[in-house]
Amino acid sequence: MSYIAEPSRYDGRMPYRRTGRSGLLLPAVSLGLWQNFGGVDNFETGRAVLRRAFDRGVTHFDLANNYGPPAGSAEENFGRWMAKDFLPYRDELVISSKAGWQMWPGPYGGPSGARKHLIASCEQSLKRMGLDYVDIFYSHRVDADTPLEETMGALAQLHRQGKALYVGISSYSPELTRKAAAILKSEGVPLLIHQPNYSMLNRTIESGLLPALEELGVGCIGFSPLAQGLLTSKYLGGVPEGARVTRAPSLPQRMLSDDNLARIRALNDIAAKRGQTLAQMAIAWVLRDARVTSALIGARTVEQLDDSLDALKKLDFTQEELASIDKHATD
Ligand code: NDP
Repeated sequence: MSYIAEPSRYDGRMPYRRTGRSGLLLPAVSLGLWQNFGGVDNFETGRAVLRRAFDRGVTHFDLANNYGPPAGSAEENFGRWMAKDFLPYRDELVISSKAGWQMWPGPYGGPSGARKHLIASCEQSLKRMGLDYVDIFYSHRVDADTPLEETMGALAQLHRQGKALYVGISSYSPELTRKAAAILKSEGVPLLIHQPNYSMLNRTIESGLLPALEELGVGCIGFSPLAQGLLTSKYLGGVPEGARVTRAPSLPQRMLSDDNLARIRALNDIAAKRGQTLAQMAIAWVLRDARVTSALIGARTVEQLDDSLDALKKLDFTQEELASIDKHATD
């Protein structure tokens, strides 16, 4: 059946936040297609999740050349969902992609920050998704073997060619972020956004990166706010069938140690006292900092997505709640 987006999708339930000091607004919660949307996954389930997300005001979908598996298949599927469902809504969407990790064979297929890799990869991504341009194109990783000037020069080139409306970087240190921003500025291209890992269990960005981004006027979209599903109640009663820990090397079984599970149980109790699920509290927690533009979540089912988006119903925290979260998440 042809898709007609929910007319009430902009009724105020989804806040839109300014990305750094740019003109671009992003939804407080964005959806990533790293896992669950590849060639090995159910096409119609992925489609239903994307439709539901857009119906609830999620205007930003985050991809990368290598998302799948197999690598490239999330973009291919996304191209089909665009053609079937979202083409009439293209101007309501912010679509991102990235390059930097291993993608195709030979010396130019990555992992690399070379101009050759980034430009070719962006072309491939546009073809797979059936798009003329992406809204944001990222350098996915630091490549210590390539001069930063070359990597940023490639982003600036894509920007000038109109193939990327904005450019971003992912998982760069505060120091390299400052350098990257300065190089881009010298090319006349602002650095829009940084995409780092950020959750109650991974707070590395708080000491150096977040202050640097604020000073530079660069936005921040934190990935894996649920720590890949650990910050939900799903593992508290055993390992459910199909859960990421059973199938993805990115979430090794050892993460379910007794110590971690005890912490998660305590966090789950705090969430329950707030009248939220743990997933909702984990997302609200990331968004408590105004420097974080958007929480970049994943979802395998419509039910998970709905649960996570309900985080928006309660975003505020008391000092006591924050202290008690710190006690269990970091001590
Ligand atoms: P999350 O931390 O949100 O984890 C998502 C996973 O948690 C789901 O696939 C599902 O796993 C589980 N889950 C989600 N919602 C719920 C819920 N409400 N209740 C119970 N379980 C739930 O994010 P991801 O790790 O998936 O990353 C999100 C996005 O961030 C990626 O798609 C990508 O766009 C980006 N990213 C970027 C990186 C980079 O280097 N720039 C690296 C990693 C991610 P399950 O299958 O177990 O049910």
